[in-house]
Amino acid sequence: MTHTLLNLSEISDFDDEADVVVIGYGMAGACAALEARRSGGDVLVVERASAGGGSSAVSSGLFYLGGGTDVQKSAGYDDNAENMYRFMTASMGMEKAGHIRRYCDDNVAHFNWLEAQGVPFERSYYPDKAVFLLSTEGLMSTGNEKVWPYRDIATPAPRGHQVQMAGESPGARAMESLLARCEEEGIRTSYDSVATALIRDDDGAIVGVAIRQTGHNKYYRARRGVLLATGGFGMNKAMLAEYFPDLPDTAEPLGTPYTDGSGIMLGMAAGASTSGMDGMIATASIYPPGQLIKGIIVNTLGRRFVAEDSYHGRTASFIMEQPGQRAFLIVDADIFAYPEITTANHELVDGFDTIEEMEERLGMPVGSLVQTVKDYSHYAAQGCDPLLKKHPDWLKPLDQGPWAAFDISYNRSNYLYITLGGLQTTRDAQVMNDKGAVIPGLYAAGACSAHIPHCGKSYASGMSLGPGSYFGRVAGRVMMGNAAPLSENGA
Ligand SMILES: Cc1cc2nc3c(=O)[nH]c(=O)nc-3n(C[C@H](O)[C@H](O)[C@H](O)COP(=O)(O)OP(=O)(O)OC[C@H]3O[C@@H](n4cnc5c(N)ncnc54)[C@H](O)[C@@H]3O)c2cc1C
Repeated sequence: MTHTLLNLSEISDFDDEADVVVIGYGMAGACAALEARRSGGDVLVVERASAGGGSSAVSSGLFYLGGGTDVQKSAGYDDNAENMYRFMTASMGMEKAGHIRRYCDDNVAHFNWLEAQGVPFERSYYPDKAVFLLSTEGLMSTGNEKVWPYRDIATPAPRGHQVQMAGESPGARAMESLLARCEEEGIRTSYDSVATALIRDDDGAIVGVAIRQTGHNKYYRARRGVLLATGGFGMNKAMLAEYFPDLPDTAEPLGTPYTDGSGIMLGMAAGASTSGMDGMIATASIYPPGQLIKGIIVNTLGRRFVAEDSYHGRTASFIMEQPGQRAFLIVDADIFAYPEITTANHELVDGFDTIEEMEERLGMPVGSLVQTVKDYSHYAAQGCDPLLKKHPDWLKPLDQGPWAAFDISYNRSNYLYITLGGLQTTRDAQVMNDKGAVIPGLYAAGACSAHIPHCGKSYASGMSLGPGSYFGRVAGRVMMGNAAPLSENGA
């Protein structure tokens, strides 16, 4: 599909018009539509599928939220906006400090808003290490908060808020509530409609969208603006080849088939700039079970390169950078277990009576792994890790043979990923051009806009649905001329 830009003068007649036209009915689109409607707008949502939901509805339903939500409080965690801001800017960088500030300041209000829409979060805490839950606990740790150096910069607090639904896709429960609200409140929809071009007036403002619907072209006018909320680009082979030339064949994108970057291309055709397009969060976690974190991860040189207690996406990012994209998890008999996420396909290389034998079998330089295990165990016995500062909770000498190695290489195991790059936006969700100026009438939110974390090293689970829902809301308000921060409006 090609994505173009049309001039208003080329359109003789519009088929429909609304104050706000939202393209894409996932998390970001639904939240934007609700806010624009509640600000008095007539809202029309254009959705390519026959129903709303998008990737949001097949997701694990984790929202990265904090600052002292009721779920955090009931689990006994004392978080606040400043603490959350310190962690996020330290781990995700200052590039989007404005977005982070606004997100953190409004986070408790945003959590309350989600609950008020009927998105349920159980008051319960899952204390172990997991990637996603099949049970209904409302809170777990999903980021690098306890990882050095962040634990010294901000007080660690769990911020992964899981929607209350057992099973693999609690995101469906969240979308069910939000879409029901949209319908109740009179948000109009145009399903089976693919947006193919934005429409620009002589002043350079985006004033509508062209769609293709059951073999016909249609044109919708947007009196106050168009919001792109079309998701990421993991299913677009050409974009993947351009932005991830080293992507191995074994890596697989997560999402629906429509996660193909069409909104990003629509924006680019209108002169939008992009950011972080080479960023992804990939995952093939070694945990659960948590005991495997007490092992060490080494490259083909027999060297450690990432603190093993890192968030699984951070570990994956470091593995991608190793020679040949290869890495091994080494454990002793004390902590041996198979990784529980079987889709990751981490292969047990073998068990070994000595580290020397293991080192030889893995083709590592003579003495390299032996020295690494010796040094690590020496310091672990004293409760410290001078090299990578793994948290003492996860330290133990690897001194109980036999030993085992799992091959967790990026190009052999099965890493699943989502893309993080997208359209460059202001903290008011306005799309920017390559000179840093706002393109009037064009907004973006969710996974088609650049995520706050621009790579897996700084990602935390929930950093798509959390900011996607929040900045969707911001867009809906701003488009209707209501720019006040959410918390000041008592949201
Ligand atoms: C299995 C899985 C688990 C995940 N778990 C989590 C999690 O727990 N927490 C988290 O934060 N993130 C998670 N993610 C990522 C997260 O789900 C997505 O990044 C997020 O849902 C994106 O939301 P969105 O509103 O931007 O886009 P989407 O929810 O993908 O919605 C985009 C919509 O736009 C439509 N569309 C696309 N192009 C067009 C077009 N040209 N015209 C009209 N309509 C169009 C699509 O059909 C779709 O309905 C997960 C993803 C997957 C696949």
